[in-house]
Amino acid sequence: MNESYLLPVFINALKELQASEDQIENYKAFYMSSKHPEGLPCPVCFVFKNKRSFLIALRRDEKGSPIKCSICQKEFYVLRR
Ligand SMILES: [Zn+2]
Repeated sequence: MNESYLLPVFINALKELQASEDQIENYKAFYMSSKHPEGLPCPVCFVFKNKRSFLIALRRDEKGSPIKCSICQKEFYVLRR
């Protein structure tokens, strides 16, 4: 997975969880700064637990693709484009 269009989905999730602008900027920088061969970094774990965990793409359905964190189990939903 190397889809920069996913970043806004994660940013929105962080905003919903009341992350600060600084926290969001930190995540953005981390997301953009490396290739993440093991998978995209979970924003919730990164910001709120100071942990590096990665996201797993689940089976897509008719509306889009759910993505789930391997550690905190948070799900993100990416609408089909
Ligand atoms: Zn997580």
